[in-house]
Amino acid sequence: AQIEQAEFIKSSSRVEECPMNGYPEFALVGRSNVGKSSLVNSLVRRKQLAMTSKKPGKTQLINHFLINNSWYLVDLPGYGYAIAPRAVRTEWNAFTKDYFLNRKALVCVLLLIDASIPAKEIDIECATWLGQNQIPMAFVFTKCDKRKKRKNGNKRPEENIYDFQNLIREFYQETPPWIMTSSVTNQGRDELLLHIAQLKNY
Ligand code: GDP
Repeated sequence: AQIEQAEFIKSSSRVEECPMNGYPEFALVGRSNVGKSSLVNSLVRRKQLAMTSKKPGKTQLINHFLINNSWYLVDLPGYGYAIAPRAVRTEWNAFTKDYFLNRKALVCVLLLIDASIPAKEIDIECATWLGQNQIPMAFVFTKCDKRKKRKNGNKRPEENIYDFQNLIREFYQETPPWIMTSSVTNQGRDELLLHIAQLKNY
């Protein structure tokens, strides 16, 4: 299930502009700074493929990467820029929700959550919305290698994950699959690729 080939295909500013050839797609979404670019680089074992825009306020784009000539890894704009103007945040909502609800080729949303800190309000909002709308998804916890000193009330990644799952459980009929990852140790990389490989063949 390894990635042999990864090719940037296009950026789209609306769902209608996304590629139309029907490959199954897996969409990465998460708060800015969650570790998305690092995870993508760890998955493809190559630097600088992610090409995610770090600048809040820039045009929000859906980026399609064709993997092994058989499926798309889709990079969605990050949410939760504290300094982004309200208009940009509203645009994120309309734009990404349209994608989640109307993109036929979407097989699974991979929602990235930073396990090294307690989940933010905006993560819980996003997870709640996906659950309520029954969008097929999996939780991908990032930075699981990061263990802060336990003083100051810091918790271990496992504890943050446990707390998060308790907060969102009631919004899901079944607990979605979840994978613990680290781009530093490559923990979870094979598990995530296997999960994708299994789903894309249905
Ligand atoms: P993005 O904004 O979601 O694309 O996040 P980045 O991939 O740029 O990562 C944000 C910050 O978190 C950077 O300083 C990374 O070095 C750090 N980071 C990302 N992934 C990991 C991880 O798995 N472990 C640790 N310890 N740090 C990480």
